[in-house]
Amino acid sequence: MLDIYSPIQYMKGVGPQRAKQLERLGIFTTWDLLYHFPREYQDRSDIRPAHSFSQGDLATVKGTVIAAQESKPRRGLSITKLALQEGAGTFYAVWFNQTYIKKQYPPGKELLITGKVDRKFGVPQIQVTDHEVLEGDEGMHSGRIVPIYPLTESLNQRFLRSLIKTTLEQVGSLAREFLPDSMLDRYNLPCLPEALREIHFPENQASCQRARRRFIMEELFLFELGVNLQKGRILKKVKKHEYIEEALSNRLLMSLPFRLTEAQKRVWREIEEDLKSSFPMNRLLQGDVGAGKTVIAALTLCKAAGSGLQGALMAPTELLAEQHAKGIKDLLEPMGIKVALLTGSGKKGRKKTLDALASGDIQVAIGTHALISEDVQYKNLGLVVVDEQHRFGVRQRAALQDKGVAPDVLVMTATPIPRTLALTLYGDLDVSIIDQLPPGRQGIKTHHVGLAQAGKAVGLIKQQITEGRQAYVVCPLVEESEKIDTQAAVELHGRLQKALVDCSIGLLHGRMKTQEKELVMNEFRKGTIDLLVSTTVIEVGVDVPNATAMVIWDAQRFGLAQLHQLRGRVGRGSHQSYCILVGDPTTREAKERMAAMCRTQDGFVLAEEDLKLRGPGEFFGTRQSGLPEFKIADLIRNGKEIEQAKKEAEALLSLNPDLRSPMHKQLFEQFASRFPDFVKYSDVS
Ligand code: ADP
Ligand code: MG
Repeated sequence: MLDIYSPIQYMKGVGPQRAKQLERLGIFTTWDLLYHFPREYQDRSDIRPAHSFSQGDLATVKGTVIAAQESKPRRGLSITKLALQEGAGTFYAVWFNQTYIKKQYPPGKELLITGKVDRKFGVPQIQVTDHEVLEGDEGMHSGRIVPIYPLTESLNQRFLRSLIKTTLEQVGSLAREFLPDSMLDRYNLPCLPEALREIHFPENQASCQRARRRFIMEELFLFELGVNLQKGRILKKVKKHEYIEEALSNRLLMSLPFRLTEAQKRVWREIEEDLKSSFPMNRLLQGDVGAGKTVIAALTLCKAAGSGLQGALMAPTELLAEQHAKGIKDLLEPMGIKVALLTGSGKKGRKKTLDALASGDIQVAIGTHALISEDVQYKNLGLVVVDEQHRFGVRQRAALQDKGVAPDVLVMTATPIPRTLALTLYGDLDVSIIDQLPPGRQGIKTHHVGLAQAGKAVGLIKQQITEGRQAYVVCPLVEESEKIDTQAAVELHGRLQKALVDCSIGLLHGRMKTQEKELVMNEFRKGTIDLLVSTTVIEVGVDVPNATAMVIWDAQRFGLAQLHQLRGRVGRGSHQSYCILVGDPTTREAKERMAAMCRTQDGFVLAEEDLKLRGPGEFFGTRQSGLPEFKIADLIRNGKEIEQAKKEAEALLSLNPDLRSPMHKQLFEQFASRFPDFVKYSDVS
């Protein structure tokens, strides 16, 4: 007997091979199958005579097979044509390369057919996209609102649809409601078994919408429970450490070669307040590229070290970690603070660094996720800073946090999430924004040119270098293969060397050893290298103020967020900077992206543009923002539901702070299986 959590391979019609294919869709149990929601629907409920449709319509018609014909006009193509009778008229149905049709549907079979109508031949002819035998009165693939599912190759709609239908019939009614009744009532949501039925095989459009809304609310509600549980957990903890020091960070402030902007001052005040509090800081620092987040991190680390605490700064790439280590050493070592770079395992000197961290000799550790390896131990980690946090997940942030006892946490990001959305989503974080660039920055002049005019970009580079500035050229990105990326970079490097004989040109790509990369970066920083040809390894954080030209090759291949990040590598000093996008966009969307880049330099405007062009799913994908991926909720469109779900979650938790009462067993299990990260790193587990 099947139950609601049976492994799928025990289902009829699912062997080991099918099971594997389904697993690729994340479907392991009957429950997963029921939660594999349609991505869209086709309304095939309107059955009319074939004659009433016009050329090109998508039609669903009903008929009885009267004759069949098969032809093979050329190799690899076979056409099956059935003649069907409907009332007084006839029509044809056509399949390509489906030779089983003729055998399976002999004269006399009654079929429901969906497809595109071709009226060129007098008798209406339908190119079949879906069909089924009519038995009983309810169709599954036609004659109703039909679900269309996300698929992988080698699985088809018909198979999945049938499987889900069977599963629903056998176990759908066993699905136990776990949302609070009061919530279902308040928002007029269907209970679980009904919602499952209606989301897959809806009675009508309205019931379909209602079912979808239930699952959207369900998903957001569970997420908000997590966010709020985490918040509760952090608030409950009391800091064991204290910041006793003032003089040192003030000295650092005085020694900076610039004055903080008003925005930086405000943020620094907010952070200082957090540090004074007896509860740990948990703050998100947002600021567009180049806004000056690093110096804020340095001040915070300085304050920790001055108070006898250790601080750690985690960056997403070795390149960036290395740069931070250098920059922060320059700032903090004159204050008598010991700073160390901690790189991946197996590196020389690592053991010594680890010992010094464990003994407390090193006060500030900077590194990649190497900082959270098991063998890394701190004497008294009081402060954790995470740079470009969108590159890390909740899990990594929490792992670093766990290296200390309720440390203060500062996470920094350049991903411009609108404030209200950030507040709802990162409910467990306070948000500070640096909404002002340091003074003296001139706008970056941005142009787009076709590949045929790439010479203009080369001319600009030459001119900038002659004036003593430096430049970047970024090469196309081929997501799937670092090898191809590298080839492209090597080739372009060669071509540019020929075009710019007097310049010193460096090359940087992901296949180089860390030390080689560091060497090239250092030379570029020192100015020995004029031009750096690179793959997107320089995307995040790299800071060389003397670089004033950024040329992005095949720019149409990059997303807006990435283009913006890349452009942010220039415009960091007082000289006029330029960005040239080289490429021939073919799609409307790609052209729009180029235009948007030329139009504005404001990260928030670009983010909104990006949302319009690509949809939030992609912009806020896990990789981009460190947020969990939502199955059905849409973070932009479901703003109202987010608010409602948040309210419900807060109300429930205010009465049941840890969700541990037997009454909420089901709810807790759902929550735990849906958002395991929250549970793993909270006291509730
Ligand atoms: P991001 O916010 O992108 O991490 P950075 O911290 O790398 O930006 O800062 C960009 C550049 O601006 C650095 O060269 C930094 O030294 C400089 N900078 C930061 N704050 C100021 C300021 N208040 N005045 C002038 N320059 C500043
Ligand atoms: Mg930065």
